[in-house]
Amino acid sequence: MGNCVIVGINWGDEGKGRMVDLLTEDYDIVVRYQGGGNAGHTVINEKGKFALHLLPSGIFREGVVNILGNGVALDPENLLCEIADVESKGVRITPENLKISDRASLLLPWHRRLDGLEEARLADKKYGSTKQGIAPFYSDKYQKKTVLAGELFYPEKLRSHLTDLLEWKNLTLTRVYGDEAVTGEELMSWVGRFAEKIKPFVCDTTDYLEKASASGKKILFEAQLGTLRDIDFGIYPYTTSSNTLAAYAPIGAGIPFAKIDEVIGVVKAYSTCVGEGPFVGEMTGAEADALTEAGAEYGAKTGRPRRVAPIDLVATRYGVKMQGATAIALTKLDVLSYMDEIPVCIRYRVKGKETGSFPFPDALDGAEAVIGYAEGWKCDISGARKWTDLPAAARSYVEMIENAIGCPIKYVSVGPERDSIIIRD
Ligand code: GDP
Repeated sequence: MGNCVIVGINWGDEGKGRMVDLLTEDYDIVVRYQGGGNAGHTVINEKGKFALHLLPSGIFREGVVNILGNGVALDPENLLCEIADVESKGVRITPENLKISDRASLLLPWHRRLDGLEEARLADKKYGSTKQGIAPFYSDKYQKKTVLAGELFYPEKLRSHLTDLLEWKNLTLTRVYGDEAVTGEELMSWVGRFAEKIKPFVCDTTDYLEKASASGKKILFEAQLGTLRDIDFGIYPYTTSSNTLAAYAPIGAGIPFAKIDEVIGVVKAYSTCVGEGPFVGEMTGAEADALTEAGAEYGAKTGRPRRVAPIDLVATRYGVKMQGATAIALTKLDVLSYMDEIPVCIRYRVKGKETGSFPFPDALDGAEAVIGYAEGWKCDISGARKWTDLPAAARSYVEMIENAIGCPIKYVSVGPERDSIIIRD
């Protein structure tokens, strides 16, 4: 195994955190390369149950170095809360096992505020933002209007940089949204209370990664969300504001010259989606409630019930292609055990025509799912640890997906715990 990226193939929440937690055994370094505290990875291991938002999921493994790359939305306030929470359950976090890129931009206090103000302005046309400031943050980053973590080492310049940004941002807060201005004192107090406290973790992570890579250390790149939330190739504008694709991993991680050997795409055995936007095949009523309940489909960050649908072979095939996936981890197969027969979205019907190709986002509005049914297995499979432990109907379901998406399903997850996994040869 060389360098590997773990990505979500669909809308996110596929169980990437659980897979990173499992696979870190074979890796030395785990790097988060995009996104911020707007989604969550749930990890259950011998240390407890954790909802990680920003911390890489390798944080629980002794000897694994975790890195927040330049591509992440570095929210010091959220990060410090998360560090305190994880440490309270007995996991030590030090500059030895957590490093933050000096080139990561800081999510500033006004980003969260602007996110809420804009969603309120949009009212019933809102995007369904988690209001963690991610869209305003990335907009500012690409306008070159935020500060880098490394600037914390240049306090005089940082103060004058922040003063300039404050002046500029207050124009938007007061004149566009009619909100209150942020004062210089509030901003500098925020720097002292939060940003200064992450300083011990900030370093030149590109230099660290280059040397580690040259000495043969193996890197696991961890994505947030999934293909359909990618800013360029997702269901725009119901996307996130960064690139969730594996191709972005070396850049966002801070080692653009790294070679990627493997891309493990995580797919859930059915579909879920949080927030607004088209969701072909969406279940409603009692059918939806039963699946939401069986899969405990409530957002790790927001607690919102997730929208649910049958596995979408059209979107999943697209996700596999765009991610360049070399293997798939299929998660939550155990959740489907209650169904007599399992609905599967095998094609879309767009303007009366059936298609197996994922269309341009606007064409999804009127698209309908063409549903087929797979045989259910109706027994508890959470104890299965070998392929042959699974009933024939469950194996057929996995093989049917594998054939439809054209990528080997190497891992089948049958429970949230670290060892609830079948690894196929
Ligand atoms: P991520 O953001 O992709 O890491 O996904 P989330 O953590 O938001 O959502 C995945 C949820 O499913 C978490 O609550 C996991 O503990 C849980 N989970 C992961 N794999 C399995 C599985 O195979 N079976 C069951 N029942 N739960 C799982």
